[in-house]
Amino acid sequence: MLTILLAVHCSLFIVPCSLMDTIIFGAGPSGLAGARKLAENNKSVIVFEKEKQVGGISKTIEFKGCHFDLGGHRFFTKSKEVNELWNKTLGKDFLKRPRLSRIYYRNKFFNYPIKPFNALFGLGIIDSVKILASYVKIKIFPYKEEKTFEQWVSNRFGKKLFDTFFRTYTEKLWGIPCDEIQAEWAAQRIKGLSLISAVKNALFPGKSGKVKTLIEEFKYPKYGPGMMYEKMAENVEKMGGKILMETEIVKINHTDFKVENVMVKDSAGQEKIYQADHFLSSMPITALIKRLSPAAPEEVLNAAHNLHYRSFITISVILDCPTPFPDTWIYVHSPEVKLGRIQNFKRWSPYMVADKNKTALGLEYFCSEGDELWNMKDADLINLGLEELEKIKLGKKADFADGFVARVPKAYPVYDAGYKQNIKIIRRYLDKFKNLQPIGRYGMFKYNNMDHSILTGLYAAENILGSRNDIWTVNADKEYHEEKK
Ligand SMILES: Cc1cc2nc3c(=O)[nH]c(=O)nc-3n(C[C@H](O)[C@H](O)[C@H](O)COP(=O)(O)OP(=O)(O)OC[C@H]3O[C@@H](n4cnc5c(N)ncnc54)[C@H](O)[C@@H]3O)c2cc1C
Repeated sequence: MLTILLAVHCSLFIVPCSLMDTIIFGAGPSGLAGARKLAENNKSVIVFEKEKQVGGISKTIEFKGCHFDLGGHRFFTKSKEVNELWNKTLGKDFLKRPRLSRIYYRNKFFNYPIKPFNALFGLGIIDSVKILASYVKIKIFPYKEEKTFEQWVSNRFGKKLFDTFFRTYTEKLWGIPCDEIQAEWAAQRIKGLSLISAVKNALFPGKSGKVKTLIEEFKYPKYGPGMMYEKMAENVEKMGGKILMETEIVKINHTDFKVENVMVKDSAGQEKIYQADHFLSSMPITALIKRLSPAAPEEVLNAAHNLHYRSFITISVILDCPTPFPDTWIYVHSPEVKLGRIQNFKRWSPYMVADKNKTALGLEYFCSEGDELWNMKDADLINLGLEELEKIKLGKKADFADGFVARVPKAYPVYDAGYKQNIKIIRRYLDKFKNLQPIGRYGMFKYNNMDHSILTGLYAAENILGSRNDIWTVNADKEYHEEKK
């Protein structure tokens, strides 16, 4: 391998470095999967990760004998390749787990996925009649176009059921009204469901509607999703790949639509330049555009500026009590609290909580970077979480033993009215690059699950090995990924 000498930016420091086949930005699921594929095929690859831990948003945080997932990561996929990769990475430590997830609304639990009879009995006779009447009404006078989330869901469930079970949670999540959220999100998440198919399914399970909605069990690593990606990183290194932690890509130098090298900055603030033939980027696409040098054209910079992400905060608490409810997770629709979702990690995997007499919960709040919630002090956030938990009677503040706050910026790409056009402009520009491929959820600004993110990493690596995959077709089938025939 050719060894070259490159000068460090703005200093006289000279750093010897090797010319790699591929440099990958980010050691999340997509970056690691791409690195593994390349290393397996004897390509030299180096992954730069700005954090201390691998796994990206799918990492697991260990705290006082408990394991906390940032969110709650179910492993499910229709891809044979991804399944094989997960299975061979963890083997027997990849557990099959039962799922119980419910909606909490008006001090009652409702099944999620929604079961019509459970919903109608739970809401009482008057609301049930209103729901049925509104369903009949929408069937006679449906929205003519289904551009927004509200139109899409109302056409399938009626306006009243939409208002009851979809509106509050969705607006907590996205922070914008449902009539500003694009229908694609609904189509990806709840395709195949309608009130009629749900009723048929409840009456004739197995026979009717064919949509045995949303899986009742899922796979999960013994100690949370981070375990999967830590093992994957270990395997990449065993195969000869390198992973440099706490090293951020700060500049991407290019000429004639070819990336020549990248400048990285380590935790000590030292800058170095690395060169390679190919580059895969899983950093947020907005950050990628901003780091290009020379700068991208004005139109592309504006398009990147106008893409928005929703962030979230998870308040991780340990309670001195055995589990207060049986659910794996709960969607909190109750409008009287800001709390959006509760993860109960002992139910995700019994190994997540070492002491059986304790409970580890993730109290999730959706917000925007820099808003009031985002800027609250950690102690105040923990207090807010515990108070709201007690208010909706799902836990006692007095049982609090310990906790911490994790802020997750840019967790959800927002499918607002302008995003498609902005992505089109950015893609048109990035497509011109000969050796730079964006991958992953944030890298491509797509509502990708782990399997989709992994597939983009694998396909991009295959392209380097000679294939001609169109990475943008991943997760574009509009079919709900949890739908089971
Ligand atoms: C709340 C929540 C729940 C979820 N639940 C599920 C689920 O149940 N099932 C499922 O399959 N998926 C789920 N997902 C999606 C899943 O988390 C993502 O698909 C997956 O983590 C994306 O992987 P990635 O590699 O594309 O990006 P990331 O996980 O974000 O990894 C990117 C990495 O790049 C690093 N990076 C960024 N910028 C730089 C830079 N300049 N230099 C160096 N490194 C950089 C980051 O630190 C990060 O480690 C969930 C997501 C969220 C937010």
